[in-house]
Amino acid sequence: MHVFLNINITLYINTCCMLLPCYDVVMSASYLPVIAVSRCLLGDKVRYDGSHEFNEYISNYIADAFKIIPFCPECLAGMPVPRPPIRLVEKEDGAVAAITQNKSRIDIADSLETTARYFIQKHRSLGGIIFKSKSPSCGVRTTKLFNSQGEILTYSATGLFAQTISARLPHLPIEDDACLKDKKRFLDLLIRISAYSELLNRSRQHHESQFCPPQCYNKIINRYFHDMNINKDIGGNNHFIMETYAAYLMPALSHALLRHESMLEQLLPETYNKLINLIEKL
Ligand code: SF4
Repeated sequence: MHVFLNINITLYINTCCMLLPCYDVVMSASYLPVIAVSRCLLGDKVRYDGSHEFNEYISNYIADAFKIIPFCPECLAGMPVPRPPIRLVEKEDGAVAAITQNKSRIDIADSLETTARYFIQKHRSLGGIIFKSKSPSCGVRTTKLFNSQGEILTYSATGLFAQTISARLPHLPIEDDACLKDKKRFLDLLIRISAYSELLNRSRQHHESQFCPPQCYNKIINRYFHDMNINKDIGGNNHFIMETYAAYLMPALSHALLRHESMLEQLLPETYNKLINLIEKL
């Protein structure tokens, strides 16, 4: 594991120092990064045929370090278990339908999209999501998409629930369980989820209290807290500012922090402390 954490590349360190904050705020002891997980991966028998897709990896590695929110988009959309399977079908106008594979052939695309919007409104502390792969609701670039003649157009479409969340929260880290097979990709996801959660948590603390902004050593984080103070005074959209900052932070995390352990420890100490045990196990 440490092999890929120890590669020293000056260029990306400099990039990180420009982009990332030096946190000096003490986190609350009860804080846990929040991760939503498809219920069937947790062993719940909610699949269309009444089965589950229990994933031991999630239970072993994630349960202790994260607060888990189980969800099943199709159950949330009011579908029973068992139920007819669903297929993603591209319509003539290019829109994608989610058609039940029974005689009635109902399109539940609207229900899945509404459910997704409600889900992110309800779970505002969400740091990321692990979806079930290949599902017309949950898959992330692993789902089949058909045309109206029943031919497969692609094997790498995204389920409609996942698609709606991704469109609304473009920086929220999401993957499906296909990523669990690749340790590097899995760890990358956990780091991004922890960092996003940490950012949300700090954003909320800052919004709710009057403490001084943290000591910062780069222009972006200074600007972020400066904007946040201004917006607090005028009642601005704190979440929008957080998202703007995340637009800088999340790409930097995917490409740089994985490669340098001390950089991760310095810049995101809370994330580092929570993940170091997982890193040892992997
Ligand atoms: S893949 Fe998604 S929609 Fe299907 S059973 Fe699992 S959680 Fe539910």
